[in-house]
Amino acid sequence: MYIHNSCMSWTLEFKNESLEEQFVNEVVLNNPFVPRIVYLGGSFLYAIFFVLDLFFLKNILIYSIVVRFFIVCPMLFGTYFLIGTTFYRKHWKEIDFINGFVAGMGLVLLISVSQNPASHLYYGGLLLCCLFYYVFKPNQIRSNLLSWGIFAAYLITTIFFTKVPEEIVLNNVFIFFFFNIGAMFACYAMELSQRREFINRCTIQDQSDRLYKALSDVDQQREKAERLSLLDPLTGLPNRRHFFSILQRELECSIKGRRDMGLMLVDIDYFKEVNDRFGHVYGDQILALVAEIIADSVRKCDTPCRYGGEEFAILLPGAAGSIVEKIGRRLMDRIESANVLGKEEGAGLTVSIGFVSLRNEEKVSVEDLIRRADQALYEAKRTGRNQLRMWASQGADRLV
Ligand code: GH3
Ligand code: MG
Ligand code: MG
Repeated sequence: MYIHNSCMSWTLEFKNESLEEQFVNEVVLNNPFVPRIVYLGGSFLYAIFFVLDLFFLKNILIYSIVVRFFIVCPMLFGTYFLIGTTFYRKHWKEIDFINGFVAGMGLVLLISVSQNPASHLYYGGLLLCCLFYYVFKPNQIRSNLLSWGIFAAYLITTIFFTKVPEEIVLNNVFIFFFFNIGAMFACYAMELSQRREFINRCTIQDQSDRLYKALSDVDQQREKAERLSLLDPLTGLPNRRHFFSILQRELECSIKGRRDMGLMLVDIDYFKEVNDRFGHVYGDQILALVAEIIADSVRKCDTPCRYGGEEFAILLPGAAGSIVEKIGRRLMDRIESANVLGKEEGAGLTVSIGFVSLRNEEKVSVEDLIRRADQALYEAKRTGRNQLRMWASQGADRLV
């Protein structure tokens, strides 16, 4: 949204309907204090002009009383109580226009029934009507229509229906004309500045909304990038770096809490051959499949990760050796029974597993733990693959 006159029509209304509605709600109707003062002040001034009739225009007292106290003042005063209601919010344009029209025409009527030249004093009243309308209700189209309309009615009435001397009429026409011209511009300038200020506010709001959105987008992207930086893109499992930080934390907790912990290394057997026979793309699919089987076979509290090329590590907090072994065997069975290319010729998919079980009283480093699991895995490989080995203190020579 940009501040430009082209967003307003020649009447100054915004071309965009929802913007116009927003402007009316936020600027015109938001503060009921101004219209209330207009109606209260207008009603008071209208009533007070009666004093002039008492002194100068006694012959129209009956009209004056009826017009002032039975028509215009009750109407203005009644409207005072309407302001702020939903009815007023809905019909404020019509209500304001009718009030201005009736107040102006009331004075024109009094001029027309008075045969006394002193009735031109009402001319001041007419000006006040217009002034109120112009200054406090800046909507230049309606203000002008009303004001020039009242002026025309005044002219017709005085020229054709009253005996007000010509010089007085001319005099009044002269004042009215220039007053109206001046008020026209003032009213236009006021409405324009109100609308520009509103557009400025909207633009600032719009820009700060956009900035806020851009910042939260950046935040989301950063969070996403952080999340992705912890995962292996091929298998979706945590990557080695992330795994190490989890392992470090879990190991400390296990040692402090004197809890058991298992660490398993899983390596696909003869994976190079899979790649060589069926291609790397297929190799990738096998890696993703194995990762899926691993993720399905471990407990919720375990953390599997892609440790390296075709090697996976699984951290099993609180798991004693027997549990690690059970999970390892389940894993081997599931991988072996997976439907893969070459299975019919007896070249199915198998893995070798080396694991270490940390007993509750032991204190070891992460590196030691990994080294032990690695030794067990090496043993599993060395002694023929497709088997599971647990590290024991005398070396990884114990087949479990
Ligand atoms: P072993 O039974 O001794 O483990 O034999 P191996 O062939 O599985 O082991 P080796 O270390 O000789 O070969 C590992 C292969 O894994 C070599 C490498 O091309 C492949 N590899 C590593 N990462 C990826 C990968 O992301 N995608 C694919 N398709 N292959 C990979
Ligand atoms: Mg391998
Ligand atoms: Mg390997």
